[in-house]
Amino acid sequence: MSKTPSPPAGPTATSSAVGDPLIDGFGRPVTYLRLSVTDRCDLRCTYCMPRHTIFSPRKDQLSVEQLHRIASVFVAGGVRRIRLTGGEPLVRKDFMTLVKELSRHLRGGGLEEITVSTNGSLLARFAGDLADNGVRRINVSLDTLDPDLYREITQGGSLQAVTDGIDVALSAGLQVRLNTVALRGVIEAEFERLLAYAHGRGMSLALIETMPLGGTGADRVRQYLSLGEFRREVSARWTLEPVPEKNGGPASYVRVAETGGLLGFIAPLSCNFCADCNRVRVSSTGRLYTCMGHEGSRDLVPALGASDSDAALNATIRAAIRQKPERHDFKIGRQGVVGIGRPMSVLGG
Ligand code: SAM
Ligand code: SF4
Repeated sequence: MSKTPSPPAGPTATSSAVGDPLIDGFGRPVTYLRLSVTDRCDLRCTYCMPRHTIFSPRKDQLSVEQLHRIASVFVAGGVRRIRLTGGEPLVRKDFMTLVKELSRHLRGGGLEEITVSTNGSLLARFAGDLADNGVRRINVSLDTLDPDLYREITQGGSLQAVTDGIDVALSAGLQVRLNTVALRGVIEAEFERLLAYAHGRGMSLALIETMPLGGTGADRVRQYLSLGEFRREVSARWTLEPVPEKNGGPASYVRVAETGGLLGFIAPLSCNFCADCNRVRVSSTGRLYTCMGHEGSRDLVPALGASDSDAALNATIRAAIRQKPERHDFKIGRQGVVGIGRPMSVLGG
């Protein structure tokens, strides 16, 4: 991995009280937390998790209280959005307890929104509870509408369970974005059907470039399709109108004139979006990752246990954020793959 420049000593580098804005060494405010509630999952998507994944020990998983405490320090420091993710967040038994706890920040005005990334397999059971507890938007991963191919890509998943879950979520009033990993050899055939399915039901669709995260056994070079390249193909068939929609995340959106729906492109490899990165991630074992594209992380657990006050936790979070790298260094090409060993399931999308 190439060397990343050190952050300049910014004017905010000395701000340190709980409640001061969280700003990294490059002057970027941190306003978005992706909180992973588990590294476990009921599926095994080929690009994400090998079939025999070794998960972190249950004793190392943070409790709801600990996750809530960490989230609260971030909210005090200016985080306005929290995305709950995994692994598959809905497999965690006390997941709704966490959502209920966090929703107090929505009512108190500290948070603008809580969103959830899910594979949708358990969504039919939980969508109503999510809506009742203040969640307005969710992302559902879906790479194909062919049941056999879905089973193959997810190594055992049921497409029907996901589409049923989506129906329940839409009926409960949730806004849904479909997240589709742009797998070469799959997306070319699936795109039009997914677009019609999503936009026909008032959902947006986001395409994600395959990232070299974790050793899944899959051939990353073969799986990878540049979204810059695919977007050119899409724009030859559809009228793509630029829109300002950013939703605080890395997707760049267009409106498809023929359907009226939104189409997002998340292209970390072909179109680096780090300059305005506002995100950090915390794993379900309490490690803070300030960049998904770097191996480094900071353990928040000792600070959680240090005292009942949040001073140590706050200081640890700020020290890590000051060192947030300027950009990630993913690469997939004929010269090979530059990636990292940690799979996406540790931190979620
Ligand atoms: N289980 C949930 C789900 O599938 O939505 C949340 C966690 S999953 C890790 C979050 C997102 O990451 C999903 O949209 C998934 O498709 C995407 N993802 C997983 N591995 C990836 C990879 N290597 N490259 C790009 N996206 C990936
Ligand atoms: Fe599970 Fe989501 Fe990874 Fe698929 S992408 S294996 S659903 S964590």
